[in-house]
Amino acid sequence: LLSRLTHPTLLKPAGLVGGEWIAESDSGRHFDVTNPSTGEEIASLPDMGAQDTRQAIDAAHEAQRGWAAMTAKERGAIMRRLYELQMEHADDLAIILTMEMGKPVAEARGEIVYGASFLEWFAEEAKRVYGDTIPGHQGDKRIVVVKQPIGVVGAITPWNFPNAMITRKIAPALATGCTVVVKPAEQTPLSAIAFGVLAQRAGLPAGVLNLIVGEDGPAIGRELCDNDKVRKLTFTGSTEVGRILMRQCSDQIKKVGLELGGNAPFIVFDDADIDAAVDGAMISKYRNAGQTCVCANRIYVQSAVYDEFAEKLAVKVRELKVGDGFEEGVTTGPLIDDQGLAKVEEHVADAISGGATVLTGGKADPHGGTFYEPTVLTGITSDMKVAREETFGPVAPLFRFDTVEEVIELANATEFGLASYFYARDLSRVWTVAEALEYGMVGVNTGLISTEVAPFGGVKQSGLGREGSKYGIDDFVEIKYLCFGGI
Ligand code: ADP
Repeated sequence: LLSRLTHPTLLKPAGLVGGEWIAESDSGRHFDVTNPSTGEEIASLPDMGAQDTRQAIDAAHEAQRGWAAMTAKERGAIMRRLYELQMEHADDLAIILTMEMGKPVAEARGEIVYGASFLEWFAEEAKRVYGDTIPGHQGDKRIVVVKQPIGVVGAITPWNFPNAMITRKIAPALATGCTVVVKPAEQTPLSAIAFGVLAQRAGLPAGVLNLIVGEDGPAIGRELCDNDKVRKLTFTGSTEVGRILMRQCSDQIKKVGLELGGNAPFIVFDDADIDAAVDGAMISKYRNAGQTCVCANRIYVQSAVYDEFAEKLAVKVRELKVGDGFEEGVTTGPLIDDQGLAKVEEHVADAISGGATVLTGGKADPHGGTFYEPTVLTGITSDMKVAREETFGPVAPLFRFDTVEEVIELANATEFGLASYFYARDLSRVWTVAEALEYGMVGVNTGLISTEVAPFGGVKQSGLGREGSKYGIDDFVEIKYLCFGGI
């Protein structure tokens, strides 16, 4: 891995606690990071656990007052430098990301630019954490509202966006004056380490950003939830783990921010521009080999355009190129691990046994390992697993529907409520459907909705809080009301 990098100093086999790189964990154990494309071991890191996490929390706690005491402009200037460093090192960061996660390197570079955008945005927003004055309720009273940083924040992130899920969480935290302890996914800790190196170079004071790398997510998570110095836990990952963390945080009424699973519907109405809908479905479904929480999971197509859409989609899907993320022209990398592959295989087998037809794909890819063929299935019904669970792979299941009322009911019939998409042109239909979808985000005639300027987040069991945009700051401040009497 190091030989591929222009700046090998971006990688250290260590976690970051209080400004020190820690190469030996408290337990003395190590764990391996592997390339999912080749199965090759690419790094060995200290397997940090609860004790290391406690030290990181102490360091974050110590650093917090000083960081919050700086002006927003000073904090913003350091974040801006970090943004610039991330952009300058985008090629190396993309290589590291592809090595540990498998997505095509061009897509990885896109993630680095997207990840950097949160640093830039919140460096600017830092200066705009405004309070309020409220006309007093009695003649001698004056009321002022100020916003203060919550304090130490624990952040647990997933492997599917090893850089951007970190920056999206920590940029608003740093902007308001919070300090953070980040636990990246055990599959993808190297992107976090490289980010930590750049954060130090940008001048982030010791203890403001701490990194705990380790395999024992539950033990690290326990400490972040149980330690009363941590005032907020922010998590992106499965609904299952989110539920555990929220339960653990309830003992201390700890604030939680959760970005959990989705089961995104993608609806194509008969008045849609079908070619545009096919393009939207391609990006929404097959990006990151289908491994994003906003990926289209269920594709509903109105009867009159069902066959046309299915055929056009299959043509595009057959053009996708599966392979190693560093190979020229590759669009689809491996799935993250055997478990990920097993789930995709199970969903497809279940659909086929229920009567679905494979238009293209439908089996493991000849590359072996965890590679899976980009797949289109028709004849899908609501009782199949693909309808109820997040597949997290390159599989598009196509459902047929007839009326607007019917498809809204189908689309909303899930405990999830993260992203949704639909293609239509009739203005009245567009508004009706946009308002009726019980989702935190709705893409109308687009399959790509993520941007730092808009609030990302879900309703129902897809999560709590919003990331990005002006709203993203609110999750990291406490509102304090000052009542001045005797005036
Ligand atoms: P995924 O299916 O994307 O791997 P997970 O929710 O299992 O989603 O993992 C997301 C993050 O949560 C990872 O960093 C993982 O290590 C961590 N994690 C898994 N289980 C727990 C737990 N019980 N407590 C805290 N963190 C956990």
